Amino acid sequence: SIVVTGATGQLGRLVIAGLLEKVPASEIAAVVRGKEKGAEFAAKGIELRIADYNEPETLKDAFRAGDRVLFISGSEVGKRAAQHTAVVGAAKEAGVAQLAYTGVLGGPEADFALAEEHKVTERAILDAGVPYTFLRNGWYDDMYIAQLPVYLANGAVLGSSGEGRIAPAPREDYAAAAVAVLTGEGHLNQAYELSGDVAWTMSEFAAEIARQSGKPVVFSNVAPEQYQQVLLGAGLPEPMAEILTDVESAIERGLLAGTTHDLSRLIGRGTTPIADSIAAGLKKLE
Ligand code: NDP
Repeated sequence: SIVVTGATGQLGRLVIAGLLEKVPASEIAAVVRGKEKGAEFAAKGIELRIADYNEPETLKDAFRAGDRVLFISGSEVGKRAAQHTAVVGAAKEAGVAQLAYTGVLGGPEADFALAEEHKVTERAILDAGVPYTFLRNGWYDDMYIAQLPVYLANGAVLGSSGEGRIAPAPREDYAAAAVAVLTGEGHLNQAYELSGDVAWTMSEFAAEIARQSGKPVVFSNVAPEQYQQVLLGAGLPEPMAEILTDVESAIERGLLAGTTHDLSRLIGRGTTPIADSIAAGLKKLE
């Protein structure tokens, strides 16, 4: 089967939808944390496998020999090294044919805090000797688009990435890449550096929002400490505020700016331009 973990998440749902366009539902299995959560998949004829990254026992039934697996990284930052190591162990034990993992741009070279657990996971996969595909995802532009109402209300995009460039792409594009490596050939033991085709600065991003919305929006670059305070003030837990501030520094240093075009090659089209994502985001606000 083609198996997707984290299937009920935002990326996972897009991958399942993409798979359904290419293969019969009976060939797809979704790893979900509870039967109810996967009800809509089951209704379509997709097999449900119930498992939790936190409970290695439950992972035993998540994978079968010969499965092609998309392992979507977990969302509990700080817990993922242990969780992911357990998933890799279960995939190896089962004898899967492919373990595609959603890591982070730069892989072992990614020099920022959020990358640490991804590095541990890639290492565990290599050590396990399982045929792998590393989908090293860059930033999701959706993270910014979700903030459009805030940018418009404040007339500002706040950050501490300075003139650093970033090359994000929407989840939809990364999902299409995952579908391509799960349904195509030639992707075993390959690492893909996935990102948008164009890298832009936050000033350029803010200017495009202003252009399309007709409202004043500028990039407001502040010191990292100040940015972290704003995040804390908005209610983010301290570890997450620290991690996100560190990401700003990574952007400033150009670590999320790579444009290898691996993503557009995998999906067979250019990545979605940020202007299109902004237009779609603004339309939703109408
Ligand atoms: P979501 O938070 O929407 O989805 C995360 C998925 O992981 C959910 O299906 C969730 O299950 C599942 N999951 C979390 N913890 C466990 C666990 N203990 N056991 C089993 N499943 C678990 O994230 P996205 O879909 O947006 O993103 C996918 C991943 O990409 C994230 O988890 C994160 O690692 C990474 N990411 C990357 C970003 C980027 O910009 N590159 C930005 C944000 C995240 P459930 O539905 O039951 O909650």
